[in-house]
Amino acid sequence: MNSKYKIAIIIGVLLVVLSISITSINYFVSLNNTQQQLKNQALPLSLDNIYTEIQKHIIEPYLVSSMMANDTFVQDWLINDEENYKKIENYLSAIKNKYQMFTTYLVSNKSKNYYTQDGFIETMTRDNPSNNWYFSFKQKSKNHEINLDFNKNLSNSLIMFINYKIFDRDYSFLGSTGVAIKISYINDMLKTFRQKYHFKVFFINKDADIVLSEKDNFKYSSLSEIDYLNSIKDDLISKESKSFEYQVDGKEHILNTKYIPELDLYLLVEAKTEDFLVHVKDIFYFNLIISLFISFFIIITLVYLIKNYNKKLEHLADYDMLTSLNNRRSFKSKLSRQISIHQRNKNSLSLVFIDIDDFKTINDNFGHEVGDKVLIRISNILKNSVRKSDLVARWGGEEFIIVFINSTLEDSIVSIEKIKGLIQSDYLLTELAGSDITASFGVTQLKEKDSIDSIINRADQAMYRSKRTGKNKIESI
Ligand code: GH3
Ligand code: MG
Ligand code: MG
Repeated sequence: MNSKYKIAIIIGVLLVVLSISITSINYFVSLNNTQQQLKNQALPLSLDNIYTEIQKHIIEPYLVSSMMANDTFVQDWLINDEENYKKIENYLSAIKNKYQMFTTYLVSNKSKNYYTQDGFIETMTRDNPSNNWYFSFKQKSKNHEINLDFNKNLSNSLIMFINYKIFDRDYSFLGSTGVAIKISYINDMLKTFRQKYHFKVFFINKDADIVLSEKDNFKYSSLSEIDYLNSIKDDLISKESKSFEYQVDGKEHILNTKYIPELDLYLLVEAKTEDFLVHVKDIFYFNLIISLFISFFIIITLVYLIKNYNKKLEHLADYDMLTSLNNRRSFKSKLSRQISIHQRNKNSLSLVFIDIDDFKTINDNFGHEVGDKVLIRISNILKNSVRKSDLVARWGGEEFIIVFINSTLEDSIVSIEKIKGLIQSDYLLTELAGSDITASFGVTQLKEKDSIDSIINRADQAMYRSKRTGKNKIESI
């Protein structure tokens, strides 16, 4: 490429490097921000939301369960009236319907009978594994607990049991009562978190068993089945909220945990970082394209400006600034070409030297600016009076040269007469100078042995002759 475009290439390369660097820096900053935001805000917030949602759903059944355990009717019935099944059936049924529980139940410690809103169900025995919950609860020091049950043939959905111990006025243990609610909402919640936020949510117990996860979308039942979680299992099962980062199949993952005391479970929320970086990547490509486009636009503009500037410089080098005529330098080179063509072809060529008469007085009387206007006006008259192929130049100061191509001395004298008349009778020139402006002309024809200097000198001599002999004349040699 042309050396004048070197600067455009350098600026272009710098712009492209700058665009790529800035967009890349932006990309890495937002990548880091998104990761931090995910780890420090989105994941903890989701954990809190899930926790709040669970708490919200637990409060009412807890209150109902506690109310049943403290109900004097229930206590009296257990002490004095247990044979009367119908009474407790009605009571449990009324509570179930009023609070829209899935099940209400009561176990008498005296008879070990298990009642629900449907009446007597069974007598609990230690041999029956499905009765274990009662005997284990009885042994515990706490007065209430939550059990999650998945194996009950009561329903396919997940059931949460809230058990409360019943005591008489002397604090002796009478039995256990409570309510059960379906917790399919948890499944819906986990599904929402996966679909909306790409979060994988699941609950584990202290033995690392996965006790709650989105049905149909989670195939593991224990952390020990998941290699990458198994290795951090001990660190993970903690009542303190924690955050972990690890790679699965080369992809970055973040896992945040939270202990839920009400359920004695650990809530885990896992996110694949990549899912959250898609928009960051999109923005990166968008920014890159825009900045490259802008760079490209700047380069094009720069090339255009350089081209224009160069054109102006070339024009300045060849043409006179004031009159836009050929300057002496470009005129000489054009004349030299014409001389050799005409000498070779033996064609005629005439050259006329023109000097404005008493120009100094115009400058002196009206100032330089008026003098300039006169020069411009005369230049225009000269330009408009010759053929396109002829040459017109400003030789210097108030001196001009015209080269009539393929013109004999006689032909050119006819043209000069016309020009002489045009100058003298030009109303604008007369107005500028306060009187008619005239010029002296010296004309000569190209000879076989002529050089640039010799033909110009001859015309100059002729012009001086017309000056000496009265000005406003045409002399020829
Ligand atoms: P003569 O009839 O003998 O040619 O007299 P003259 O006054 O025309 O000639 P002279 O050579 O004494 O003066 C030419 C003047 O032209 C002197 C100079 O200051 C002036 N001149 C040269 N270039 C410019 C220009 O670009 N603008 C203006 N306004 N004046 C210029
Ligand atoms: Mg002069
Ligand atoms: Mg003069």
